[in-house]
Amino acid sequence: MREYKNFIDGRFTDGAEAFADVDPATGKQVAWVHEADAGLVDQAVRAARTALDGPWGRTSVQERCTLLRRVADEIDRRADDLLAAEVADTGKPEAGARALDIARAAANFRAFADVMGAEGVESYLQDLGQGRQALNYAVRKPLGVVAAIVPWNLPLLLLTWKLAPALACGNTLVVKPSEETPGSATVLAEVLAAAGVPNGVYNVVHGFGSGSAGEHLTSHPGIDGVTFTGSTATGAGIMKAVAPRIRPVSFELGGKNAALVFADADLDATIAGLTRSVFANTGQVCLCTERVYVERSVFDEVSERLVAAAEALRLGAPSDPTTTTGPVISRAHQKKILDYLDLAEQAGAKVLTGGRAADLEGPLSGGFWIEPTLWTGLTNNDRPVREEIFGPVAALMPFDTEDEAISLANDTDYGLAAAVWTTDLGRAHRVAGRMQTGISWVNTWFQRELRSPFGGMGLSGIGREGGRHSLDFYTETTNVCVAL
Ligand code: NAD
Repeated sequence: MREYKNFIDGRFTDGAEAFADVDPATGKQVAWVHEADAGLVDQAVRAARTALDGPWGRTSVQERCTLLRRVADEIDRRADDLLAAEVADTGKPEAGARALDIARAAANFRAFADVMGAEGVESYLQDLGQGRQALNYAVRKPLGVVAAIVPWNLPLLLLTWKLAPALACGNTLVVKPSEETPGSATVLAEVLAAAGVPNGVYNVVHGFGSGSAGEHLTSHPGIDGVTFTGSTATGAGIMKAVAPRIRPVSFELGGKNAALVFADADLDATIAGLTRSVFANTGQVCLCTERVYVERSVFDEVSERLVAAAEALRLGAPSDPTTTTGPVISRAHQKKILDYLDLAEQAGAKVLTGGRAADLEGPLSGGFWIEPTLWTGLTNNDRPVREEIFGPVAALMPFDTEDEAISLANDTDYGLAAAVWTTDLGRAHRVAGRMQTGISWVNTWFQRELRSPFGGMGLSGIGREGGRHSLDFYTETTNVCVAL
């Protein structure tokens, strides 16, 4: 059985207690995970501070960009090991995980090496009158010791999305992976060490949230900021933990994302896009669509075709190349989704397809499976349409006018992403621009240019990451004003 240990100051370190890491495809334990107590978290934060104050804190941008590219190369070299850890923890289909999760991890490092390497210095020549001038220039300094708290849905992708810009800016980190997916962050410690990342720059502490490593880390007085991706409720707790010390936070939180399908849409492309946006990663992507608003004249056709696409998905073993859809992450998450399926039926939903736990055979019979599910008959007043479910489920609801579609889509406490499906150019820009979301896609979904801003409004988060937006979070800027 594998063991995942904490990684502190360049050494794998035992915890006093260990907990089980379970493969959600089978329900079987795949590893023991060493839990970090408050003492180990303190050691990790101190190691990160010492590294920041040491030679790492004096590295040049060029040196760090070179290091980031070496990390990307090392990720490519260790892709099979990272993939094995990620798949054992999540049950994701291997082919998709290799193409997205592992490939994006390397891409994140290359992208932020490019972004940081191209950075200039903001400067202003100021006229003081009587022939005198002052030169103002802004110096970026690392934010410091960054606490990075990561969820389980895209563990390596989201970790490296934080780690790459944080390292590019010269920070040191203490990372708390999700208790459900400790593997890839631990293997990454070996990858980073092999690429030459100095001891203490990347530390990993394992454990849970409240009363465990997560809370010990976010309430530690030695951290200079928190970058968190996870649920809105957890984000609210972390905000309270850091409030007394006024530390900056970057929060990528939940979503309840809408798709708007107009009658003029290219329906072949729309159905393919909706199938991805509702069911990708078994619906466990913050950007996934859970509300599909469809213009009434094409409602029946879209419903029928999306049902056919959902029924063509294949739940199965990660190693089977024909598998499209994996399990949900845990027994507890499966139960949460099943409770929403019951709630939807009580609210009068008509189940077009799915609606239950899926039964698989052989070793997969112990896994946490949910049938891809589509409903009609719900409205924005129903809890399954208002609350994030985070599973392979969506409600289809009709609309009659563009204004009605916009107001239905914006009628949510969240504000992460929307997708507009139309061939009318004016409507595409008009509707996308009126979405109260951090990201609006037109005739596509999950298309990410890593330099573009990413983040949410409302309950979906605080701040933007991506390209220079990430640099803004991971640096403190000092203005130097020189009288000439
Ligand atoms: P979660 O909030 O339960 O856990 C996320 C992380 O926070 C885990 O590592 C967990 O151990 C830790 N944590 C929990 N309580 C804590 C506490 N009190 N103090 C410190 N850390 C604590 O989220 P999850 O279930 O792992 O992930 C799913 C959620 O993440 C969904 O809501 C999803 O929308 C969101 N998400 C958002 C984005 C985005 O970019 N907006 C991306 C992916 C996932």
